[in-house]
Amino acid sequence: MTQKKNNWKNIQQGTKSVWAGETSLFYKGATQTPVVHSVTFGYEDVDTWFDVAIGKQEGHIYSRNTNPTVAVFEEKMRILEDAEAATSFSTGMAGISNTLFTLLSPGQRVVSIKDSYGGTSKLFLEFLPRFNVDVQLCETTDMDAIEAEIKKGCRVLYLESPTNPTLKVVDLERLCKAAHEVGAIVVVDNTFATPINQKPLQLGADLVLHSATKFIGGHSDAMGGIVCGKKELIDKLFHFREINGATLDAMSAYLLLRGVKTLELRVKRQNETALAMARFLEKQPQVEQVFYPGLTSDPGHEIAKKQMTGFGGVLAFSLKGGFEKVKTFLNSLQYAHLAASLGSVGTLVGPPKVTSHVEASEEERKQLGIPEGLIRCSVGIENAEDLMADFKNALAALD
Ligand SMILES: *Cc1c(COP(=O)(O)O)cnc(C)c1O
Repeated sequence: MTQKKNNWKNIQQGTKSVWAGETSLFYKGATQTPVVHSVTFGYEDVDTWFDVAIGKQEGHIYSRNTNPTVAVFEEKMRILEDAEAATSFSTGMAGISNTLFTLLSPGQRVVSIKDSYGGTSKLFLEFLPRFNVDVQLCETTDMDAIEAEIKKGCRVLYLESPTNPTLKVVDLERLCKAAHEVGAIVVVDNTFATPINQKPLQLGADLVLHSATKFIGGHSDAMGGIVCGKKELIDKLFHFREINGATLDAMSAYLLLRGVKTLELRVKRQNETALAMARFLEKQPQVEQVFYPGLTSDPGHEIAKKQMTGFGGVLAFSLKGGFEKVKTFLNSLQYAHLAASLGSVGTLVGPPKVTSHVEASEEERKQLGIPEGLIRCSVGIENAEDLMADFKNALAALD
């Protein structure tokens, strides 16, 4: 299994999406990565088996630990994030849980933001405190407040940018610097941005993670998680995952690998369409507010411009008239699935009131700045003109 290319310096993301991690000839000349469903790997003699088991020789033993198809996916993602190492998980949440439970011990402190992904937020509010981890969640857009909490000392700084569902932007470079001054490890959830639009490791983060279920796979047909970063930290995560068993399976790894080959193509198109849609929505009389860091009017625009090369395929907007109008609007759309999740080739829309923040009360949503009439929209790769005509039609149904 020879790697076609080893030096990825100065190679662009589109080329990496296709070629990185791929081996030249896998099995009898196969050009595509085979799906190795085998749970276990056999050896002709005990000596070789032993050498592989103790890590003296490369190879696979048992698929809960490592698997050839999964390894290609990890290598591709490692190269796309320009990281030293990468390890994968069965879902994005498995990656996040493993990261937090590997890095934090009882009595230690983690600083994060109020707007983190719903599942992550549950870990912070429900599970980590049971293990006596001190959790401090800050106002997402108040960089001074976050910095002040970091300065009090913490083991982990956990960030996400842009956030779900109101696309708030966090100054990654500034907060990484503050965290390193107190010796903290910085973890960034890069799911919304993808490595096409944002490179947290270059901005100072120690670990970057993704729900590969979203843009990385891109087709809403496979789940997975990936964490990339310093080898010393990835080794620790891998060690815990080998034992708790939140392993990515070979078939999902194959689907994600196939999806990621078009990552750059998709994301660039989604960036363009989302920006066009945001600008279009801003002008519509039925729309109350548009949330998208690509808009010059957006409070996160200046920081986003500094740390992102594109603003992503997710936007949100609120309708005048609240939730009743949301129902009418969503039922009138032709080219969108009314569904949770994001980052797929097909447009996905949903109200946070019934998706990500269904368990929050109206008051809690208000505190997080989530209007009752908010719609999150993850634009697909359809033609922007068709999507806009569809949205215009559905807005007209509100009058
Ligand atoms: C979906 C999502 C996750 C969780 O990923 P799963 O694959 O659903 O477990 C984590 N972070 C963000 C930002 C997400 O959008």
